[in-house]
Amino acid sequence: MRYSQAFIPTLKETPAEAEVVSHRLMLRAGYIRKLTAGVYSYLPLGLAALRKVEQIVREEMNRAGAQELLMPMVQPADLWRETGRYEKYGPELLRFRDRHDRESCLGPTHEEVITDLVRGEVRSYRQLPLNLYQIQSKFRDEIRPRFGLMRGREFIMKDAYSFDKDDEGASIAYQKMYAAYQRIFTRCGLQFRAVEADSGSIGGNFSHEFMVLAKTGEDTLAVCQDCDYAANVEKAAINARAAEQDDPLLPLEKVETPGKRKVEAVCDFLGISADKLVKTLIYMVTGVSESEGDVSSQGYAVAVLVRGDREVQEVKLKNLLGATAVELADDKLVFELTGVPTGYLGPIGLSMKVLADFEIAALRNFVVGAGEKNYHLQNVNMDRDFAVDALADLRQIAEGDPCPRCGGRLGQIEGIEVGHIFKLGTVYSSAMQAVFQDHEGNERPLIMGCYGIGVSRIVAAAIEQNHDENGIIFPAAIAPVQVIILNLGLKDAAITTVAESLFVQLQEQGLTVLLDDRDERPGAKFKDADLLGIPLRVTVGARLSKDGVVEIRHRRDGQTVELPPDQVGSYLSAQIAAAINLPA
Ligand code: ATP
Ligand code: MG
Repeated sequence: MRYSQAFIPTLKETPAEAEVVSHRLMLRAGYIRKLTAGVYSYLPLGLAALRKVEQIVREEMNRAGAQELLMPMVQPADLWRETGRYEKYGPELLRFRDRHDRESCLGPTHEEVITDLVRGEVRSYRQLPLNLYQIQSKFRDEIRPRFGLMRGREFIMKDAYSFDKDDEGASIAYQKMYAAYQRIFTRCGLQFRAVEADSGSIGGNFSHEFMVLAKTGEDTLAVCQDCDYAANVEKAAINARAAEQDDPLLPLEKVETPGKRKVEAVCDFLGISADKLVKTLIYMVTGVSESEGDVSSQGYAVAVLVRGDREVQEVKLKNLLGATAVELADDKLVFELTGVPTGYLGPIGLSMKVLADFEIAALRNFVVGAGEKNYHLQNVNMDRDFAVDALADLRQIAEGDPCPRCGGRLGQIEGIEVGHIFKLGTVYSSAMQAVFQDHEGNERPLIMGCYGIGVSRIVAAAIEQNHDENGIIFPAAIAPVQVIILNLGLKDAAITTVAESLFVQLQEQGLTVLLDDRDERPGAKFKDADLLGIPLRVTVGARLSKDGVVEIRHRRDGQTVELPPDQVGSYLSAQIAAAINLPA
């Protein structure tokens, strides 16, 4: 590729809309352009990086025995109704009607389509196991598309689905994918960690997420400092009920707390610490409720009690209720439902279901809102003063909590989810009658697994982990171009001859090369080479005429070497080979 003819529209100014570094740099380096919220065009260099990632994913999936296919993006609503997900999936599923008034949706994931395909073709255990995957655009109407490719509405995913005849086979399929994912993210040059995960709206009972460690990650991971336990905080369990305190129960007391609504203000005012106060939060719940057994699209309200120094973990709440979604009620709604301004709510006399975190049962003589403006209650005790409908693990694990596995100390780090693997069991095959005949001729539902990778998100995550103040520093394996040659003497015949012949020779060696043959100042060329993040830069300029050498500079550490042109090819090939992570 010649820079003078290439479509690489770099920007001098930092685009105002970009909040995170990968988004900023991908716009500035001319890798992507936004069409509309969460929808991007991949320009030639952006596409080249994406293709590198796809290729690694493809090679490792094939190596693990999976087979590539390609399924449609437009999907009929009736198929989704078979699993109940047409209603349950929520507003992320983009639903529409075609000219014949048939309801359809854009695929956010493909369990229904693949299960339909396989139930039509697989009859016998002899056709199993099977693992099928695709690399394709997905559409999810995300509530908050942001951070460029990190959370798009249209994005590229690799999704794979395994089908087995028994649990043992399904476990082997899962392990194979786990190992393939380790290889994929290692080859992409990422620092990552596999963590235990919640299985979300896809369902099923066992899953891991692969997290790229980066401060801009939207996920928080609980990581044990003493054993190898690591889990998404959505999942990280707080097993034990806290030990009960044995202080004597004191008489209930109403106190005036004028204008004190926030936990901190109430605690300061009453001279207590936040772990002596219990927050009452109202959530609106939508979807199927296990106890009520109905689909309530309107939603119903529940109250959740956690200690003042804790946060409700909404995924745990959602799972406990078997709900599609839970959302914290705003001040207005809280007032409509309870007649109490937020900040003064308490569990006593509330006319809705009350759920309490385990810790509440252990507390003695705590403070809650009085259910009346400007008042709180002191010396409140569960059971004596109010009843709860359920006690459960409802809070988010906190720094310093004990590890659920070894009792050691937990820390927290941020991560970007780049991959997710699930054991699905027979959730989909049972709902869709995807069955096979076993050895004895009995019909049984297929046992499934599903395995996603955010291919476009990987490119962004790699940049979050690999950049400096001058631009991107691509890991060699996924760099759109491996070498950039700067011709700093366009009018100098000797310099141009060497630059041009290196350009030809390096490509013949199998390297991908960008020749900067633009009529630009050297400073501008150096700046752009850094911004684009190309791992190796070859500068052909004054040093050639003077000493017969060109300069090679490594983007990552700025290290330089000078070599005569005839040694450049073998040096670069060796460097690229060494920089590409190939697991054994
Ligand atoms: P998230 O919690 O980030 O929304 P998810 O749990 O909804 O992710 P999955 O359904 O497991 O994601 O999808 C598989 C993979 O697709 C994810 O691991 C992630 O890498 C990628 N992915 C999901 N949503 C997006 C998105 N909006 N933009 C880019 N990549 C995404
Ligand atoms: Mg999601």
